[in-house]
Parts: sequence; C-alpha cells; structure tokens
Amino acid sequence: DRLIAPEPTTREEQLDRAIRPKSLAEYVGQPAVREQMEIFIQAAKKRGESLDHTLIFGPPGLGKTTLANIIAQEMGVSLKSTSGPVLEKAGDLAALMTNLEPGDVLFIDEIHRLSPVVEEILYPAMEDFQLDIVIGEGPAARSIKLDLPPFTLVGATTRAGLLTSPLRDRFGIVQRLEFYNIADLTHIVARSANLLGMPTEPEGAAEVAKRARGTPRIANRLLRRVRDYAEIKADGQVSALVADQALNMLKVDARGFDHMDRRLLLAMMDNFLGGPVGIDALAAAISEERGTIEDVIEPYLIQQGFVSRTPRGRILTALAYEHFGIDVPARLSE
Ligand code: ADP
Repeated sequence: DRLIAPEPTTREEQLDRAIRPKSLAEYVGQPAVREQMEIFIQAAKKRGESLDHTLIFGPPGLGKTTLANIIAQEMGVSLKSTSGPVLEKAGDLAALMTNLEPGDVLFIDEIHRLSPVVEEILYPAMEDFQLDIVIGEGPAARSIKLDLPPFTLVGATTRAGLLTSPLRDRFGIVQRLEFYNIADLTHIVARSANLLGMPTEPEGAAEVAKRARGTPRIANRLLRRVRDYAEIKADGQVSALVADQALNMLKVDARGFDHMDRRLLLAMMDNFLGGPVGIDALAAAISEERGTIEDVIEPYLIQQGFVSRTPRGRILTALAYEHFGIDVPARLSE
C-alpha cells in the first residue's frame, strides 16, 4: 500500500530476475564494498578456501540479497537461502547445513531475528564447522557432533546493532551498505529500463532516481509506475516531464518523500514542537510500529538531514521546516 515501501512484492520478485545484477561488475555504486569484496573473494579463491563469514547490513532495498547472490556467483558455489524468523528449531538449521557442499554460501536474511536456540548451534558451526545437536528426548537423549564442510555464512540485517555481540564477533567481514547517490541510482534506473525494454531519456531516468529515497528497489518500482503513466498519458517515452507528472500524481514529492514521511515530519512539528521526542511517543502519534520507523522511514530522513538523533530523542532540523515552507523556529536558525 505504500508505493515507496522498501519490501518487495511477489510480482516484483519475478520482474526482478531480469534486472538483478549477477556479478560484482554489474553491481552499481557502493564502491568501497565492491572493492573490498573483490579482493576478499579473489584471495579466498586463490587459496582454495571458503570466503570468511560475511555480515551485510543496511536499510531494506539497498542490495543485501543481491550482494549475497553475487558472492556465491563469484566464488563459483551455490547459495542456500533462509531467514531468521523461518528457522524455529535447531533442527531446521541443522537440516540446511548438512546439505551444504564445500564452499557453499548459506544466506540468512533478517539474521537478527534468529531464536536463541538456533543462534546457539550457529556458533560452533561458524567457528569450527561443527554441528552439536541433541538427538532424542529424556534419558535416551544424546548429543552428537557432526563435521560440516567449510561454508560461508552470509547474514543480512537492517541494523548491525540488532545482533547479539557473540554473533557479530563471528563474522570476519562486515559490510555496511549506504543509500545510493543520484548518479548511481540514475545508472540503475537506466540499466533497468534498458533490460525491460522501456524507452527512457537520461533526464527521465535522473528524475526517477532523485525521488527514489536512495534505494534501488524503490527506483525500479517508481520506474515501472512511470512507464504506465507514460504509456497512457503520453507517448510512451519516459522523459523528465513525464516522470515528474507521474510521480506528482503518485504523491512522491520532489525529495522522494511520501505520505508516511510527511506524516512523521508533520507530527514532530505539530505534536512535539520539533522535538526532542522519543521513538515510542512518535510511533504512537502516527500509529506506526517502532521498528518500521527505525528501519524504514527514519534512516533516509536522517541521512538527508531532516531529522537528527540526540541523546534526548529525535529533533527536526531547519531543512524540515523549509521543506514545508514553514518559518524556521528561532532556536534552529541561530
Ligand atoms: P535487500 O536485500 O537489501 O532488501 P535486494 O538485494 O533485494 O535488497 O535489492 C533490491 C532491488 O534493487 C533488486 O531488485 C536489485 O535488482 C536492485 N539492486 C540492489 N542493489 C543494486 C545495485 N548495486 N545495482 C543495481 N541494482 C541493484
């Protein structure tokens, strides 16, 4: 229901197969991550070893799953994929791990949501490629140790701070994905348009990029909606003008903010006089879950300098008032 929701829809997952980058060379932006991963992957391959366990964190839609798949691809191994909330029992993880081939990538999305019992068996598996499991129940229960092939655990999470420290410490490689700049997003939009056969002008791609909240998944989604508009309301060509009209109609503003962003900013302004306001009070004021604010809405507003976090809570900056054409309070303009 939220056009710029960063989670994928089912239909998008299908379309995505055509446009998802498959190699590091195709992975646009994130130069530091790309450069490091290139070196680590080449070094591991040269030594004939599995790649060190890798933790990727960053807001949704920035390319964590894509990067995990690229790692497997570049290492020439298979990827088995699961997610924290899906693994309920130790046995669920054991079943997956005993099916790994040497060097394989085990991808665990939302790794901060692993249950403690599952996390417990992950430690020796990551450290010594050993699986310690208990078989049977009651007096007949016994503990067995299984050797696992060397594998690479790739974990993804929206915030590194959500992980327990023993888990975080077991990753040899930690990569943080940043919001993409307009140039990189323009490149992503132009690339997707090309792969999907959409006639798109460079200025049209740039307009979509500017309003995509620094997030490739949102950029690709906006592009598809703009194409609909272009086909029905114009000549089919995605130009800057058509993109602007389409996105205005969709109520994605010039900064890429949508109604959720505006609600949060306006609530901070009207209900809390610009803050400082605690996250729970803010969540209650806009009837949104705290986690959604922290993971999805707020990171981009902070990165863009509209909201800042202080020890006493979130506060609005002068930029936020200017965005709505409201006089900046004296305390902020000093
Ligand atoms: P996450 O796992 O962080 O939520 P995904 O890896 O699923 O994000 O990426 C979301 C979408 O954005 C995918 O459709 C992918 O095609 C696109 N994408 C992500 N990162 C890049 C990139 N660096 N270059 C090009 N496209 C990207």
